[in-house]
Amino acid sequence: MTTNRKHVYHSRRDSVLLNRLRIGHSRLTHSFLLSGDDLPECGTCQCPLTVKHILVECVDLKDVRNKHFVASSIKDLFDNIEAHKIIDFIKETRFYKQL
Ligand SMILES: [Zn+2]
Repeated sequence: MTTNRKHVYHSRRDSVLLNRLRIGHSRLTHSFLLSGDDLPECGTCQCPLTVKHILVECVDLKDVRNKHFVASSIKDLFDNIEAHKIIDFIKETRFYKQL
């Protein structure tokens, strides 16, 4: 991996996670495609539990999210928010081990 001083990841695991978030593909939100299970749902919002929902939409995560960043869309998030802030937010949610 090339070294980029502006984007120092905490670990290889975080780097992998960030890539998954960028392409909106994670084990949590896409395992149903392989397993044939129902699409996972956000228990709070009763809507599909997607990467976008976790990062931008979910009201249940809003307080935690606002401590790290405020983004109006996925594009806004990845264009304007530093990677470590996104990772720090995910680490504070229950999704870090699942994504
Ligand atoms: Zn939600």
